[in-house]
Amino acid sequence: MSFESDARVAELRFSGELSSLVRRSGRALFADCGGLIRYPVRRRASIKDVVEALGVPHTEVYGVTVNSRDSDLGRLLCPGDRVMLFPAVPPVDVTVPTRLRPAPLSELRFLVDENVAGVVLLLRALGFDAAYHRTWDDETIADLAEREHRFVLSRDRALLKRTRIMWGRLLQSQDPDGQLAETVRLLGITRAPAPFVRCLRCNVPTTPVAKQEVLHRLEPKTRKYFNEFRLCKACNRLYWRGSHHARLRERLEAIGVKIG
Ligand SMILES: [Zn+2]
Repeated sequence: MSFESDARVAELRFSGELSSLVRRSGRALFADCGGLIRYPVRRRASIKDVVEALGVPHTEVYGVTVNSRDSDLGRLLCPGDRVMLFPAVPPVDVTVPTRLRPAPLSELRFLVDENVAGVVLLLRALGFDAAYHRTWDDETIADLAEREHRFVLSRDRALLKRTRIMWGRLLQSQDPDGQLAETVRLLGITRAPAPFVRCLRCNVPTTPVAKQEVLHRLEPKTRKYFNEFRLCKACNRLYWRGSHHARLRERLEAIGVKIG
């Protein structure tokens, strides 16, 4: 193991939650356990490249200073640089432009990677437009994120390192309820924008339908106890506020989102 002379080394400090995302790399020397990295600068590389080589996707970084001045991730890392990297400070407002994200989203719409597919149903139940298809590969997701201005949720660091994904979150939890909890905390979502008016399967808004029109499709108990129905015109699925609805509502409220 060789030690670089200080003249060729840059310091990167990953603050807050970012320090827990840093992964050991053969090149970097960990100066302490508080997220300070001494990085030998041996090639022309942007701060983004170096930060991501250390395991932290650019989507997780919300502020950068170089030698105490505001910067962005595109700057070349130079020997002697002292770089500070800052995490998100919840609640993040995706509609406000920032230095690192000059193109804000006009509204909060999601794009969900297959490794967190369970969160799709929960987001749609809250009323969010949450695009997902199990066949979409990383290239397709990056393309859709850019074209449709969507916020990407994933557990895959490599996906979130893609430059075309400006807005996204590396989720830590393994289960959908935990993943939704991380998402709503980050984005400051405390109330469902439009609960139970979107098809959980197709992601399109459902429309109210008269009971009389769907009577032939109802089981006797449903016919007896429920009067309000909504229909998905894409898949013809019928929704009413039965036991499935009550369980889903309980799950969402346990996560901390108010319904209605
Ligand atoms: Zn549908």
